[in-house]
Amino acid sequence: MTKALAAALALALAVAAFIFIGRKADTPPPPPPPYVETRWLFGTQVTVTLAGLSPEAAKNASAKAFAPMEAVDGAFARRAGTLLDALNRAGSLAVSPELFGVAKRALFWAGETGGAFDPTVGALVDLWAVESGPHKPPERQEIEKTLGRTGWRKVSLDEGSLRIETGATLLELGGIAKGFALDEAAAALKASGARDFIVDAGGDLVLSGSKNGSPWRVGVRDPRSGTALSRVLFPASGAIVTSGDYERFFEWEGVSYSHIIDPATGFPAQGVRSATVWAENAMDADALATAVCVLGAEKGLALVAAHPPSEAYVIYASGVSRETPGFAKVAPEAASPHYSRTP
Ligand code: AMP
Ligand code: MG
Repeated sequence: MTKALAAALALALAVAAFIFIGRKADTPPPPPPPYVETRWLFGTQVTVTLAGLSPEAAKNASAKAFAPMEAVDGAFARRAGTLLDALNRAGSLAVSPELFGVAKRALFWAGETGGAFDPTVGALVDLWAVESGPHKPPERQEIEKTLGRTGWRKVSLDEGSLRIETGATLLELGGIAKGFALDEAAAALKASGARDFIVDAGGDLVLSGSKNGSPWRVGVRDPRSGTALSRVLFPASGAIVTSGDYERFFEWEGVSYSHIIDPATGFPAQGVRSATVWAENAMDADALATAVCVLGAEKGLALVAAHPPSEAYVIYASGVSRETPGFAKVAPEAASPHYSRTP
């Protein structure tokens, strides 16, 4: 190689290095993709998504988030062998502070909703057996008889000994326990230093912070479609929970019967296709979403408006939707190719 050629080559390399380094300084490296972990709990997929942490820190935080959710699933479900099952069998039992606290909040919401949210509908849930079948409405007489085994006023709580007395009623926390579990997960994540996360349990979720500076994007399921979304939102930190007649139901002679029971009649609630509630915590959002399905859109929206800061978006059985005035503020809508307002 001639001297001139070597000099030209060295210059070209120096220029290339300058451009490369200059570019690097202008555009910082893209942030690492969020950490995502999924497990099966509460009969659904639960996903923890964490942004802004190293893979190792994210993995540790995620494990801390799943631990309390697994504990809630293991203690609050109605299946044999859980703490709730032991209470229902005994009719009176000293329980964990967690179970006591959730039962207490459930009874609070029973009072606030005039009994529309009722954590003693267990016997009716069993009678209708929407999950296990035979997928046929029970006899009216059976419903009347079973109504006698429900009623939130029959439950009493002894704060000192954490003892719950249920008598012959069956405590059923399916309408609120998942929300509590999400709050426990969020608290565990915050305690382990995570600030930017979503915990999503089958579309019910708690979220905090952002995805590397961009707001988290959340889809609200379209109740009449398995895959489409009825809205795509950028919700504020807090919780978004959706209840609806489409989640678990059976059809009989052209009528759809859902897993949400109206405690006043003993029949599955009718009239609301889905209720999406934003609240600061998921336990309250969960109870409110279930209650709105029972109360109907009008009374339901009034209930939510009476418990700030919470907001709701309701789709009637007819497909028409309504929302509280502040819903769009806490959960602004995102432009989305999936967007379809008519379910
Ligand atoms: P969610 O999906 O949160 O609306 O909860 C529905 C579950 O809550 C049902 O599967 C039942 O276990 C329970 N549930 C049904 N009806 C009621 C009610 N009126 N009040 C409280 N919980 C209910
Ligand atoms: Mg609920």
